[in-house]
Amino acid sequence: MTTPKLVFATGNAHKIAELEAILAPAYAGYEAGIIAKMSDFDAPEPVEDGASFEENSLIKARSLVKLTGLPAIADDSGLCVDILGGAPGIFSARWCGHHGDDAANLDLLLAQLADVPDALRGAAFVSAAVLVLPDGREFVQRGEVRGTLLHERRGSGGFGYDPIFVADGFNVTTAEMTPQQKNAISHRGIAFRALTPAVVDALQQSQ
Ligand code: IMP
Repeated sequence: MTTPKLVFATGNAHKIAELEAILAPAYAGYEAGIIAKMSDFDAPEPVEDGASFEENSLIKARSLVKLTGLPAIADDSGLCVDILGGAPGIFSARWCGHHGDDAANLDLLLAQLADVPDALRGAAFVSAAVLVLPDGREFVQRGEVRGTLLHERRGSGGFGYDPIFVADGFNVTTAEMTPQQKNAISHRGIAFRALTPAVVDALQQSQ
């Protein structure tokens, strides 16, 4: 079995698929299996009690570095809605009151925005991408994509709030894009492409 050189600090299968595609240039040429997942270890979910995307992302990565001794990559992300003062923001995954129920989160947001006209439905997806190394070095990059929220779902790709998010300059939702199209413009794509040089260095330095 290939020894992993890096671990993704997320249990979200959609995020893992996106990260694998976005970071592919960083580990092209390495054997399959050098990237481990949180589920490969008996890793408890850390308490995300930070006050920002960056703090929560660092909490996830630091806890996995401590457990595995490997460099860890994490993403904390969410949807910031202008008229809600930036909410759900860091609470995006549990906006409906419990964690990770994408359908209920989206239903609640649509209900909250029911009477809000198109001109006031601006929002941004935000991602804080971090790489934490066992020697304590930490790299942080933020990515943002602005757009507008629809009144109804459209499309079956992506996850979370994708079915109602139309990025500026487009007329399809991010759930109607191919994974390649979404990664090319997404908050996560922007943040992790900026993090790629640090990931390349970490892989080269990793035993
Ligand atoms: P996290 O896993 O704690 O970072 O929570 C991320 C949450 O933000 C997800 O559960 C989604 O609700 C939302 N989110 C983050 N990125 C995206 C995206 O690319 N599309 C749609 N929703 C997203």
